[in-house]
Formats: sequence, C-alpha cells, structure tokens
Amino acid sequence: MDVIVCVKQIPDPADPGEINPETKTLKRDVKLILDESDSYGVEYALQLVESAGGGSVTLVSMAPNNETSGLRTALAMGAESAMLISDDALQGSDALSTAKTLAAAIGRSNPDLVMAATESSDGYTGTVPEQIAALLDLPSVTFAKEITVGDGALTVKRQTEAGYDVVECPLPAVVSVTAGVVEPRYPSFKGIMAAKNKPVEELSCADLGIEPTAVGWAGGGQEILDIVEAPKREAGEKIEDEGDAHERIVAFLDELKVL
Ligand SMILES: Cc1cc2nc3c(=O)[nH]c(=O)nc-3n(C[C@H](O)[C@H](O)[C@H](O)COP(=O)(O)OP(=O)(O)OC[C@H]3O[C@@H](n4cnc5c(N)ncnc54)[C@H](O)[C@@H]3O)c2cc1C
Repeated sequence: MDVIVCVKQIPDPADPGEINPETKTLKRDVKLILDESDSYGVEYALQLVESAGGGSVTLVSMAPNNETSGLRTALAMGAESAMLISDDALQGSDALSTAKTLAAAIGRSNPDLVMAATESSDGYTGTVPEQIAALLDLPSVTFAKEITVGDGALTVKRQTEAGYDVVECPLPAVVSVTAGVVEPRYPSFKGIMAAKNKPVEELSCADLGIEPTAVGWAGGGQEILDIVEAPKREAGEKIEDEGDAHERIVAFLDELKVL
C-alpha cells in the first residue's frame, strides 16, 4: 500500500515569529518544524502500511527556503522519502494555490491513499485536503478518526458532533485525519540518523508544469484585508454552591449545547 502524506512545516508555535505588516502574512524565514497536526497523518500512514504488510510512506510539503527540518522529523518517524516544493513564485500562495501545487506533485505518481490533517495549526482554513481531492478527481473523506483498508476500498469512522458516521469509499482517495487519532511515535536515535540520508526530492514550479503566474501573489483568488490580535481570554463564571450549583452547571452546559 503506497501512501502520500501532506506535511506542513510551520514556525514553532512556541516562538511563532512576526507578521509581515506589508503582506499581512506570517514571516516564514525562520526554522520551520513539523506541524503537530500532521504527525497524526504520518503515524497513521505508517501503521496502515505496516498492517498491509508492505508499501511506502512518502511525504509532500510546500515550504519556503528549501526548508526540510519538519520533513526530517517525519522521515525519522519512519517515512521513506519526501517531495519538497519550494519556489519564490509560491510566496503569497493562498489555500487553493497551495492545493494546486501539492496536487501537481502528488499527481506524478499513483498512490493508493493521500493523507492530510483536518486543519493546520497556523493557517487552519481546513480546505487544502478537499481541494487536492477535487483537483485530482479523487473521493475525499474528512474528519477521519479510524480507517480500515479493505479490498480496493476504505471504511472510515468519520467524527461528527454527535459521535461518528461510518463512510465507505473506493481507493485511491484523500483522507484527512483529526488530531489525536493515534499516538505519534517519537523518532528513535536510529531513526534520526537514518533520516539524514533519506531522499528529499526538491521541486520547483517549472518541474511541476505550474505557471508562476497561476500561484503566489500573482495567482491568488484571496486577499488579506486586515489582521487583528485574537481577543484575550475572559475570566470564567464562578458558580458558588447555594444548593442549586448542579442545576446552574447543567443549564450553563445546556446553553453551550455540550449536553
Ligand atoms: C492571500 C494569502 C496569501 C498568503 N501568503 C502566504 C505566504 O506568503 N506564505 C505562507 O506561508 N502562507 C501564506 N498564506 C497562508 C497559506 O495560504 C496557507 O497557510 C496555506 O495555503 C495552507 O492553508 P492552511 O494552513 O489553512 O491549510 P489547511 O487546509 O488548514 O491544512 C490542512 C492540511 O493540509 C495539508 N497542508 C496544508 N498546507 C500544506 C503545505 N504547505 N504543505 C503540505 N501540506 C499542507 C496539511 O496536511 C494540513 O494539515 C497566505 C494566505 C492568503 C489567503
């Protein structure tokens, strides 16, 4: 079973860097790390290939400055190889341009399955995997919490607000997994050393037949008009028990629609 996993490399959330005031985008000329959201996709892909008894896990990432730090972490977990698309023309790419670029790289081979996270930790539009599926004309299953591979088809438990739906879909397909579906393995020392020599294919727009004007600032269908600081978290409501605390807590949870 051959799986391609989309892996976004992001600025470390513990030290997220600055916003470029002119472009209103996050400065990404810092060391980028593997987005934790994508460590679940990598882990799940490794487990699927292990239980299929053979196959490969290939990573694909679009990132500036030929950045491979996050890819090396995923290679150290056990993926075999990676594709990295890095090109100045991609600066300013919106989610659709990102999907077009990733789809062009993925479309050069015929994987059984393409995996991604439901949403990234920095951009979190939660749209890239579905756009990749549409561009490659593949079925798309979102919010997967459990995947079972059968004969040419997948059965997926798909997270919903009330529980989960069971969805069946033919392979090949694009599946986005939710955070926490599996416990991502820690790269071993042996894995870290092996990752240094694993192949990372560096690709440009020209290599993928992408016109530079179709992506980046030139090709964007979206414009960032303004950015504002996230509102500070407000103090919660304290409920003093005067004999009716349980009723007030139930009413509060009911209002939040979590009951
Ligand atoms: C007008 C505009 C300009 C922008 N300019 C820039 C810019 O110059 N530089 C910049 O870094 N960002 C820029 N962004 C943000 C950038 O478009 C998004 O971060 C990116 O398109 C991915 O969207 P997302 O993070 O919301 O993905 P989501 O849809 O939330 O991601 C879901 C999953 O898709 C996969 N995925 C998403 N992105 C990638 C990737 N790059 N490589 C591999 N897998 C991926 C991962 O598995 C990820 O977990 C810009 C956005 C807009 C609207």
